[in-house]
Amino acid sequence: MKDMRTTIFGWRGVSFELPREWELVREVVEKKHGYFDMEDELMLRLRVYWERIPFEKSPELIDQLNKIIKQLKKKSKELKTVGRLRMKVHGHDAILTRVKLSPPLEMLLLVWYCEDRERSYVIHLYYKTKEYEYIEDVFRKIVSSLRCHGKEYLWSFQGISIRLPSEYEAVAYRVTSGLSWLRLYNSKTRDYIFILYNTMGSELLRDYYRSVHEWYLDLVKKEVSKIIGKRVERGRENTKIAYHSGIKIREGTMALLRKKVNTISYIWYCDKTNRLISVVIAPSKAKDLEKLQRVMDTIRCH
Ligand SMILES: [Zn+2]
Ligand SMILES: [Zn+2]
Repeated sequence: MKDMRTTIFGWRGVSFELPREWELVREVVEKKHGYFDMEDELMLRLRVYWERIPFEKSPELIDQLNKIIKQLKKKSKELKTVGRLRMKVHGHDAILTRVKLSPPLEMLLLVWYCEDRERSYVIHLYYKTKEYEYIEDVFRKIVSSLRCHGKEYLWSFQGISIRLPSEYEAVAYRVTSGLSWLRLYNSKTRDYIFILYNTMGSELLRDYYRSVHEWYLDLVKKEVSKIIGKRVERGRENTKIAYHSGIKIREGTMALLRKKVNTISYIWYCDKTNRLISVVIAPSKAKDLEKLQRVMDTIRCH
């Protein structure tokens, strides 16, 4: 059996353990439904599909499974399913089946309904027949660690993760060879949290910037200002962030006489991933800053 190094991955309120090399490659988010896909170097491995269904309309699992299989059969006549197994996912009833698509491609299909979030979930786990043992192992890891509801959700952005109150949503993100960023927003409190990074950190610090602070001023601050407006520095100190040393900058909106602070930026270099990283915490009310800062205890970058 393949030796498996795993990590905990979280996205859109679902988190689970999975092989380290699996990456989020795309997602579709509509009002009522959506999905995200994860791939390894070989192929599409995992699709997590969700649909908002009110509790009173929540479907019988077996009917839902049959409906999915019927749809799949329209695309591929030779499709066969093997077995039906009842199980639990984060306390919910779930049903599992093995689907033989076109040889050697197969899929494990897991369906459940989360009463807490009133969402139906479908996991598609793809593999080739000869990998069955490996995928069974992956499947067990996913199911035993899976969380689909709670007061807090884990967000994993290209290997950087943070745990946030469940009201936060990823409203925009960009992954490039330059500055990559994720913007998280709480629509109830109107608070923002930004995660930003640059790869090639050591090269940037050698050739372009004298410090992480210069990088921050040149790229991060400009990017964040587009959303939350211009800020001026009100104080700077050294601090520990996710097992690294970094700096913490307090900023406030431009005002002549009021020295209010309503944004805190954390900036550091992660030598394990060779990235320059920044997290900017920007609540709509300055008084929430103290409380919100605590999310930094959950940040991990390698
Ligand atoms: Zn749930
Ligand atoms: Zn790190």
